[in-house]
Amino acid sequence: MGTQQVLAQAPAKINLALRVGPLRPDGYHDLATVYQAIDLHDQVRATLRSDPVVSVETVDRAGGPVAGVSDDHHHLAVLAAQSLRARGGVTAGVHLHVRKNIPVAAGLAGGSADAAAALLACMELWGLGLDRAELLGLAAELGSDVPFALAGETALGAGRGEQVRPLTTGMATTWLLISSAPGLATPSVYTQTDRMREGSAVLQPQPPHLPDDLLAAVRSGEVTRLGPLLHNDLQPAALHLRPGLANVLAAGRAAGSIAGLVSGSGPSVLLLVADDAHADAVAGAVTPVARAALNDVQLRTVHGPVAGARLVSRPSGSD
Ligand code: ATP
Repeated sequence: MGTQQVLAQAPAKINLALRVGPLRPDGYHDLATVYQAIDLHDQVRATLRSDPVVSVETVDRAGGPVAGVSDDHHHLAVLAAQSLRARGGVTAGVHLHVRKNIPVAAGLAGGSADAAAALLACMELWGLGLDRAELLGLAAELGSDVPFALAGETALGAGRGEQVRPLTTGMATTWLLISSAPGLATPSVYTQTDRMREGSAVLQPQPPHLPDDLLAAVRSGEVTRLGPLLHNDLQPAALHLRPGLANVLAAGRAAGSIAGLVSGSGPSVLLLVADDAHADAVAGAVTPVARAALNDVQLRTVHGPVAGARLVSRPSGSD
């Protein structure tokens, strides 16, 4: 075991479409989704420990603390390392240094990205030879979005989202991503969705499915065809829980974005734009509205699709 330190990164995800089936007796929902990985990454640096301990420290881009993530056994990178350690019969431990760029509880699956990056980093650090199928199986046990964080690019998601199938597309997308605080807890957005559906006459298809014209648009690579087909079944609940998000979506429409939607369980908002210059123009118009309607607003221009989790370097020894 010569390697002492390994650096890995994993991307945030967005859902170009997210269809949610009815509540299952086991408390889960079936999903049908089109995932896309975007160029917003968390990094995990794994350093070998000779004692059998998995420890973690999480910092933001400036090296400061990160609100909403506790450096304990609930941390998804720690859970990933522990499950891999048990699977591989590893006696050593690891220290995980997590640098978060992906906003927390934002509907961007940042925790899943950290889990995926930790899996790759620790596999390399501990010299484990899991094949891709074993790794994806472990990832699925850790969380519904973790297999996609490994796969990246553009993919179909089924089951709870953990069954991932790559989707071939020449489509490159540019988005204005508007994040705000506090985050929204994913379970509360699903519960609110169920509640709002109870009083509705609209029957939810079981299992949920994606419309053919959406898949054709994604395959075509034509962003303007995709715009009107973007869809998120969790959006009404997210808007109910955080009404200011509707102001941002309306401001995006008024500013000429191609389309807009809430990302996953929110509260991030995604405005589809033609290119970086278009993103800047839309940002100029949307920023004052977002700042008036929401707290701790940050705007970023992001692009998809990008590769899934990968090793960044394999240095041996220290920094
Ligand atoms: P989901 O993947 O359910 O859509 P999300 O993208 O909205 O979730 P995440 O940032 O992945 O949100 O985190 C959800 C919750 O998971 C957080 O509120 C936090 O308490 C917990 N958590 C545990 N580990 C991490 C981590 N490494 N990064 C972020 N959150 C984490």
